[in-house]
Amino acid sequence: MFEYSDNRFQIKPSTKKQIKSTSYDELLDYLRSAGEEKYRADQILHEIFINRATDFKQMTQLPKHLRNMLSDVFEITSIELEEKRVSADGSIKFLFSLADRQFIEAVYMPWANDDGEVERSTLCISTMSGCPVGCAFCATGTLGFKKNLTPSEIIDQIFIVERELGTKINNVVLMGMGEPLLNYDNVVRAISLLADEKTKVISRRKITLSTSGIAPRIRQLAHSPYPPKLAISLHATTNGTRNKIMPIAQSFDLSSLMDAVEYYYRQTKMKITYEYIPFDGINDTLEDAERLRKIAQRVPSRVNFIPFNDISFTKPQGISLELKPSPPQRVAQIAEYLRSHKIAVIVRDSFGRDIEAACGQLALSREQ
Ligand code: SAH
Ligand code: SF4
Repeated sequence: MFEYSDNRFQIKPSTKKQIKSTSYDELLDYLRSAGEEKYRADQILHEIFINRATDFKQMTQLPKHLRNMLSDVFEITSIELEEKRVSADGSIKFLFSLADRQFIEAVYMPWANDDGEVERSTLCISTMSGCPVGCAFCATGTLGFKKNLTPSEIIDQIFIVERELGTKINNVVLMGMGEPLLNYDNVVRAISLLADEKTKVISRRKITLSTSGIAPRIRQLAHSPYPPKLAISLHATTNGTRNKIMPIAQSFDLSSLMDAVEYYYRQTKMKITYEYIPFDGINDTLEDAERLRKIAQRVPSRVNFIPFNDISFTKPQGISLELKPSPPQRVAQIAEYLRSHKIAVIVRDSFGRDIEAACGQLALSREQ
């Protein structure tokens, strides 16, 4: 079982600092110590996040001596695009390599209007390579933990996809590889840089963080500079079932998770999303529906039923549970029950034409 421990996940040291991982306050400190004006920090952020400079030489708003000084201390690193795979449904899966030859994935999902024009888009991004949580149904979990992404590596996924597709991403979901709240400092810093007034990459209300339920971190996130929308991977309505399919539930039971979720709602006033994969005979009874109703009614929320994507291709070791998707009629019945209690429910279709389903499948095909 994965043991929760705060000091296991740290920002990686490097000789030069990644400039896209540097906060505004750190830039101010650097400029102060270098005897430079404060307003230069705004210009640096503008060059990086709005002009998307990839070299200090391109930062023409800055005087040459400052560009040289910056390049002595900082570097503008980038992850590399390795492969782009377009699906019939219009979604595009991006495979990236990191400097240390780890791989991560992101999924782009366009939403077209009736005339077939792309109206808005969502990008599902990764926060880790692999994941230590090891949920029984998750392809990423079978890889184990490889590494935490730096803020720069998290941000790069958006920058590269926008550049490749020549379009602006409207929504970002942290639902790719990894458990974002176990890479807390880097994830919060990435969100802060993306949502900052000065960078205007994407507003915090257009960012959704999905978590398997690290209760103390959910509370902490409520007080982060730019709290995002919160999605909880619930997937069970009793501790017994949740423990079986999500090992992290043994550290944070449903009652502590729900207290943290309520706290997050009270602090941020943003609706909570519950993600629920109905598994045949495991979490899809009428009793589950009733318990799910109680959970969903605790604070304003909506329930997303996500179809289970078969992960047998990963041939996971040690997974003895036979997980199969619930029959559609049963899912419809539970959804109807919740709707009759005025709970907003979305039943995702099974064709993969939804970002959660596509995201949930992320595993490094190169490593298989
Ligand atoms: N670690 C975070 C975010 C990444 S997983 C979390 O667990 O929330 C993103 C979503 O994909 C989660 O809701 C997860 O439960 C779901 N998911 C994982 N494996 C899946 C699968 N095989 N089929 C469908 N959804 C899956
Ligand atoms: Fe990790 Fe989320 Fe997959 Fe669980 S569902 S193993 S927390 S990525």
